[in-house]
Amino acid sequence: MKIAFFSCHPYEQPFLEAANSNHRHQLTFLSQQLTPETVPLAAGHQAICVFVNDQLTRPTLQALADQGIRLVALRCTGYNQVDVPTAQQLGIRVLRVPTYSPHAVAEHAVALLMSLNRKTYLAYERTKQNNFTLDGLMGFDLYGKRVGVIGTGKIGAAFSRIMLGFGCHVVAYDKMQSAVLQQLGVEYLPVNELLAKVDVLSLHCPLTPETHHLIDASALALMKPGAYLINTSRGGLLDTPAVLEALQSGHLGALGIDVYELEDDFFFADWSDKYLPDADLNALTHLPNVLVTSHQGFFTQEAMEQIAHTTLNNLTYLEQGQLPQQHLSEDYVVVE
Ligand code: NAD
Repeated sequence: MKIAFFSCHPYEQPFLEAANSNHRHQLTFLSQQLTPETVPLAAGHQAICVFVNDQLTRPTLQALADQGIRLVALRCTGYNQVDVPTAQQLGIRVLRVPTYSPHAVAEHAVALLMSLNRKTYLAYERTKQNNFTLDGLMGFDLYGKRVGVIGTGKIGAAFSRIMLGFGCHVVAYDKMQSAVLQQLGVEYLPVNELLAKVDVLSLHCPLTPETHHLIDASALALMKPGAYLINTSRGGLLDTPAVLEALQSGHLGALGIDVYELEDDFFFADWSDKYLPDADLNALTHLPNVLVTSHQGFFTQEAMEQIAHTTLNNLTYLEQGQLPQQHLSEDYVVVE
């Protein structure tokens, strides 16, 4: 099959080529994002493969269908960027990568938390200038603190285990409670009770209409003054202006984000020599108690290998018209 890979960076290509050695598809790597305007780049291909910020909206899906492309593989877990009813209506089949090293993202959430708490990002800048003072660098022991986790699926569970290892009290909220985590000592609470109790809150639930702006002004008001907020899930979980207000008033102690609601306009691109036309993102990147990374939670050697492997398998399944979940329900989920 000829497959066009949109939003494809040079660092991904060796992993995709290695995974393709078992499949022998013809891969075309495109740096462009998928939009209705870039769909013609996929002319002559039978399938496309896209990433987190390629919006599969109705106009894009319609343009793909008009071009005869009905097979789509996502190189990611979340599929909030897919208009699923329209895909179904147009007969476009979409597969995603439901599992790939949840440890990669969980460990990145811990990295954000540790760096914010112990101010290693500030110390790095300071010691580069031979400034060896400690003023402003004081953190707190994580040991004994109460850490809240919203969404205890694969990544939330991995994050919870790490926090338990630090000696934290882990409290969680999820629609589905995990008996395994409960046995390890995780306590499930109603969401508002959790918000009021935690010193650190880390978000690991998907972005859905229900979780959109889960952390808004009223949720923030419930949180303890000085609490830390970590979001490695999806930007839309936060009401960004409300979070900025809570940071500026000092109510929120620190914010670590790997995702941003409007990230598809900026992330994965170099804006260092341009004006950044987003006041909220500008404010976030300049606040001293905010650490922004540009959607790199997934970015480990192990995760990249697994993403490439599952993606190429998914593409072969799509070509063969098989329902992969009949074979490997854990690893392959059809968005239908
Ligand atoms: P998962 O499906 O294993 O777990 C998600 C959990 O959220 C489930 O337990 C589910 O019951 C729970 N949930 C759903 N709706 C909820 C709600 N309204 N309130 C509370 N909990 C709810 O998914 P996962 O693999 O753990 O991934 C979690 C999220 O992480 C993904 O949806 C994706 O957005 C994000 N992610 C980010 C990166 C990154 O690089 N930063 C990489 C992969 C995934």
